[in-house]
Amino acid sequence: RWVELGSFLHQIIERFEMVVKDKDIVFHRHIVKQPTFAKIDEDKLTQVLDNIISNAIKYSPEGGNVSITLLHQGNKARISISDEGMGIPTESQDKIFERFYRVDKARARNVGGTGLGLAIAREYVVAHEGEIWVNSEYNEGTTIYITLPYSTFKGGKV
Ligand code: ATP
Ligand code: MG
Repeated sequence: RWVELGSFLHQIIERFEMVVKDKDIVFHRHIVKQPTFAKIDEDKLTQVLDNIISNAIKYSPEGGNVSITLLHQGNKARISISDEGMGIPTESQDKIFERFYRVDKARARNVGGTGLGLAIAREYVVAHEGEIWVNSEYNEGTTIYITLPYSTFKGGKV
């Protein structure tokens, strides 16, 4: 189905703003003004973003900022989710998209999870002919990037 990614992201962020009350997280949106239409499976892409935004919240301190950006980069739409959390050590950054991988035992014990979220995210993004990668600085924060083919109008060539 053709979906406008800007309003799709606004909806997802609004839902998080309503439910995330146990932690004092501030969401920031930077959504490109031009329309961004992508042919996506909404349920799957929702699952992808839910996991990435949940990770940003889970691995962030109280009062942390989470920024969600949508921009056009050449012929791809690029979504990024940035947090100011604990970050991921360089040697683990390649592994976080593997099934059941979690960065360290202490972290795994403190916050629940199975280590499947990002493996599923990668599978779904690749199925959408997109790419997903991470940029993280240990103890500074993490950004997850996703690119997807897009068109500025519904039904356009992507
Ligand atoms: P699940 O998503 O299945 O509930 P999970 O969150 O542990 O469990 P993933 O979402 O696949 O699993 O993430 C894998 C690991 O990558 C996490 O356990 C965590 O160590 C690390 N990680 C993911 N996102 C972040 C982030 N934003 N900041 C710091 N570490 C992260
Ligand atoms: Mg997760």
